[in-house]
Amino acid sequence: MDYYEILGVSRTASKEEIKKAYRKLAMKYHPDRNPGDKEAEEKFKLINEAYQVLSDDEKRAIYDRYGKDGLEGRGYKTDFSFDDIFSMFEEFFGGFSTKKYYMPYDKDLMYKINLDFEEAIYGVSKEIEIEYYSICPTCKGSGAKEIQTCPTCKGRGEIIIGNGFMKISQTCPQCEGKGYIPKKVCPTCKGKGFILKKEKIKVDIPAGVDNGMRMRIPKKGNEYPNDRGDLYLIFNVKPSKIFKRKGNDLIVEVPVFFTSAILGDKIKIPTLKGEKEIEIAPNTKDKTKLIFRGEGVVDPNTGRKGDLIALINIIYPKKLTPEQRELLEKLHESFTGEIKEHKNLLEEAIEKVKGWFKKSS
Ligand SMILES: [Zn+2]
Ligand SMILES: [Zn+2]
Repeated sequence: MDYYEILGVSRTASKEEIKKAYRKLAMKYHPDRNPGDKEAEEKFKLINEAYQVLSDDEKRAIYDRYGKDGLEGRGYKTDFSFDDIFSMFEEFFGGFSTKKYYMPYDKDLMYKINLDFEEAIYGVSKEIEIEYYSICPTCKGSGAKEIQTCPTCKGRGEIIIGNGFMKISQTCPQCEGKGYIPKKVCPTCKGKGFILKKEKIKVDIPAGVDNGMRMRIPKKGNEYPNDRGDLYLIFNVKPSKIFKRKGNDLIVEVPVFFTSAILGDKIKIPTLKGEKEIEIAPNTKDKTKLIFRGEGVVDPNTGRKGDLIALINIIYPKKLTPEQRELLEKLHESFTGEIKEHKNLLEEAIEKVKGWFKKSS
């Protein structure tokens, strides 16, 4: 279902309208108000999913153009657990954050992956080793060999401060929200509650990924108690000496000797499938672009292919032999008429400019 329809707003709705619609619907379908109602629960989930996309300018723009698949293709999460959703809801309403998680690291893990140009173009399977935070197997995350209930918050993890009108809930400063404090520190993790773990994973990188693109690998991030975050691979693609990439188009510079450019020629150029013979028409100008549709890079999100663009780069001789010079001089003389025409045009221009100059002084 469409995110706009879910929130009951138009595609041109302002941020404020989206916020208002979300506030109304989220309150109506909150599971606490609809206990046991599966339909309301599902609606609540969709409302939150829609809101977190449409309230973010960047995500909304991607969604408008490419839909939900486009977001996922770019590494944005659209499927959330209920834990994520409740924390979003709480964040929105600015309410009392009942902090369930206390691990001092992000759940999601980012990894930069270096790719050769051809690996990015054709896709590649890679085995990578990641290092992530794992819940300590000895203490299960508590950091303690033995624990005792936190005396400050009596195990609630938060304390209420203020008087009758202004009550503010705060994370308990003694236990940092855990609700307990260690009696004896866990020897495995030295009280941290987590350890570093290594894991080898195989990833299939699709054809066409580009520099800076992200790919999400679910459930390969850092561990939280009873949950594991996602791994995001961020691609760093080495440039190619042969092709220049611009979006999904590939530009190949084609050196063409000046006589070939004037007389016309057939030239072989490199393509993603090997080679291709292209025709240089007589009198081809420098920087002419010859476009070959659909012979560029495949877009990993849409499957559409860009173009291959042959950019003509006219080359002149570095040196001339006496014979070549003589031939060129003869050629030059044979063009006397045409050369004169151009010189006349320039003289006319110079006269005109001089006229301006006199007027202004
Ligand atoms: Zn431990
Ligand atoms: Zn406490």
